[in-house]
Amino acid sequence: MPDDRSFRDREADTWAGNVARKWLREAACVGEDPELFFPPAELETDPQVARARAVCRRCRVLLDCRSWAIEQGEDAGIWGATTARQRRAISREMRRVAAPR
Ligand code: SF4
Repeated sequence: MPDDRSFRDREADTWAGNVARKWLREAACVGEDPELFFPPAELETDPQVARARAVCRRCRVLLDCRSWAIEQGEDAGIWGATTARQRRAISREMRRVAAPR
């Protein structure tokens, strides 16, 4: 039987017992169309990105989500109101700041 629940609904179930990711249970995107968070182009001006970010802006766990995605190197989709390109830029900056001088 196909599982027609969204990607993040399934992840929330899978991760329900994982304390480190318990923030996912409070995610505002659970139940949303998963396609919304994985726009094909991920351009900053993409209306789909704007709609996904509108969901993120009302999410109580935005910062947990964003931090997790950056730490994991999540390279696809909108997480914590950021695109993959933004997360790569944040990671580069974090490495630059942390590098010994
Ligand atoms: S910040 Fe956005 S992507 Fe992350 S859990 Fe919340 S709604 Fe979902």
